[in-house]
Amino acid sequence: MRTFVYTSHPSRVVFGAGTVGRLGEEVERLGCSRVLLLAGGPLAGASARVRQALGGLLAAEFDGAAMHTPVEVTEQALDLLRKSSVDGIVAVGGGSTTGLSKALALRTGLPQVILPTTYAGSEVTPVLGETRDGRKVTRSSPEILPETVVYDVDFTLTLPLSLTVTSGVNALAHAVEALYSADANPVTDRQALDAISRIARALPRLAADPADLEARADLLRAAWLAGTCLATVGMGLHHKLCHTLGGSFDLPHAETHTVVLPHAIAYNAPAVPGVMRRIADALGVPDAPGGVYDLIASLGGPTSLRDLGMPQSGLARAAELATSTPYPNPRELTTEGIAELLADAWHGRRPE
Ligand code: NAD
Repeated sequence: MRTFVYTSHPSRVVFGAGTVGRLGEEVERLGCSRVLLLAGGPLAGASARVRQALGGLLAAEFDGAAMHTPVEVTEQALDLLRKSSVDGIVAVGGGSTTGLSKALALRTGLPQVILPTTYAGSEVTPVLGETRDGRKVTRSSPEILPETVVYDVDFTLTLPLSLTVTSGVNALAHAVEALYSADANPVTDRQALDAISRIARALPRLAADPADLEARADLLRAAWLAGTCLATVGMGLHHKLCHTLGGSFDLPHAETHTVVLPHAIAYNAPAVPGVMRRIADALGVPDAPGGVYDLIASLGGPTSLRDLGMPQSGLARAAELATSTPYPNPRELTTEGIAELLADAWHGRRPE
């Protein structure tokens, strides 16, 4: 018999194509009549459709969201939010825009409606990573969790293939680590395996045709499921390494996840052979670490930390940082073992 604890994080999810048309009623459902819109970047088309859907509910707009949620940007947006007397927040964009929305909700208690345009999964987690003076601090609280998520598959059609691959692997990483989490449970296991199969099926189809709407829908469903896993169970070595590399060496988020994932899986594989078999079956490959590496390489994704700009001289410090505080992981963490893992990832070697 399996003993487990399961905690769910309540959010309302609207999923489909053209769902932006339901945004107005979703905002009103939360009792809001004047919202701040967080939009911009290369999402001009999606932002215009959101503005149109909001109509008279739109009170102000901010377009300065930045990766890793710098506190200075949050303060600028907070200033506008207060001046505009808004009663809700709507955000359209990737994890960076969602991060700004969460930072504002944490400070004001205002409800949020998120329209995600990448596969990061942040929209369904109660977690926020903020950067102050170059240091990234992560916190979790119920106010951070967005009330409503409107997934509109149409909004993902403009995501370039390179970002589609790396962001898809970001989602894959949440699902993989959920399966060997100390908090793993039957519900999250099913969500994670479903996410892995959808990602493995969708990414090659999108490499052939980035406008394949069914494959886009599969990948967005996977992003929701994988984000739900991230929200529900603790992550391990892979997420710790990516957090360290992103925070201390300013490496890009989704690309770093893409390079590190095959190596983190290979490190943990001897400790959890049963989980490795389930991951390999869901991916439809003979072995999990090599299969993930081959999938990424076949899609033209990044495979080496060197190519992301990681200095070789920083590897020893990264290994120390990633093992300096204990956290649950299926295999014991040693500085030498992690240094070896990072060297493999830096060179881009295929895991055996
Ligand atoms: P991002 O939001 O920074 O987006 C990457 C780039 O893609 C940006 O230039 C953006 O404008 C562009 N873009 C986004 N959607 C697009 C689309 N549909 N078409 C064209 N261009 C588009 O990247 P991300 O990987 O989604 O998010 C990364 C951030 O999210 C990091 O700060 C990370 O820490 C955070 N994150 C947090 C959680 C959490 O639970 N707290 C989970 C995952 C990621």
